[in-house]
Amino acid sequence: MNKCVFLDRDGVLNEDRSDYVYRVEDMVIPAGVAEGLRLLKEAGYLLIVVTNQAGIAKGLYTRDDVMRCHNYLQDCCGNLIDDIYYSPHHPDYTSRSLTRKPDSLMLEKAIAKYNIDVAHSWIFGDALRDMQAGKRVGVRTIYINHRIPNQPAVADKHATDLLEASKLVLEQ
Ligand SMILES: [Mg+2]
Repeated sequence: MNKCVFLDRDGVLNEDRSDYVYRVEDMVIPAGVAEGLRLLKEAGYLLIVVTNQAGIAKGLYTRDDVMRCHNYLQDCCGNLIDDIYYSPHHPDYTSRSLTRKPDSLMLEKAIAKYNIDVAHSWIFGDALRDMQAGKRVGVRTIYINHRIPNQPAVADKHATDLLEASKLVLEQ
């Protein structure tokens, strides 16, 4: 079986914005992200992005925009990410989908496809719904937040950025 770190995208791999990130020029990758991913990869973790992209349902941008941003992210991080799952749904615009976090179908699909051992896997996220999706499938959770000390109690660990979170995983 394989171990994996699931990665929320906006606010974890790239800086979030008050509106949606869908232009490559708005993809700002903080210092330390590439190094953190490299440390996890060297330790044998699969790196799989699981991201809500409801802007697709809202008609604000397209699947092609999501993939352009993902390709840019891969260019910046040495192609270390193994796969990306995104949920294009929003219950106000499309039918409700179990892929949208806090539901966990994106993670469940990856767990089945990549034969992932949840007991040795993690999720990094900057929202309560990321932690909830992780709990649903039984991975450990790290809540990343560099601004607000308002950290959800449901997270197993807390970190200020992806690099710090990666080092917490490697300490285990
Ligand atoms: Mg986020």
